[in-house]
Amino acid sequence: MQHSDCIFCQIIRGEAPATMLYQDERAVAFRDIAPIAPVHVLIVPRLHIASAAEVTAEHAPLIGHLIAIAAHIARQQGIAERGYRLVTNVGREGGQAIFHLHWHLIGGRQLRGIG
Ligand code: 5GP
Ligand code: ZN
Repeated sequence: MQHSDCIFCQIIRGEAPATMLYQDERAVAFRDIAPIAPVHVLIVPRLHIASAAEVTAEHAPLIGHLIAIAAHIARQQGIAERGYRLVTNVGREGGQAIFHLHWHLIGGRQLRGIG
């Protein structure tokens, strides 16, 4: 299910621009519009799921696929050996701004601890 008022659904449908790094039948990955590190990529399922809080057991193959895409992009971007951060924000206090599930792949500089 796609949501017409969701910016990530719009990007997935090609109705809003993004720098796409990866696309397949289940997921896309594009550069964050406001990167906080040299590499800042969002890995997004085509399926509109509001957040990780909405994930159920039936999504397990999809979630595994998203993590594998992140690892693939990390290798492609040359940060796999050095390391990176893979994070998903949940809800307002979790810092979530876009309520369409996504992982941030962040790297290319030394990251400090969370918090
Ligand atoms: P959240 O805070 O929901 O975990 O992360 C949302 C991320 O999406 C933010 O890092 C923000 O910079 C990024 N973002 C918001 N709108 C757009 C957009 O239209 N295009 C792209 N590429 N990134 C966006
Ligand atoms: Zn959406």
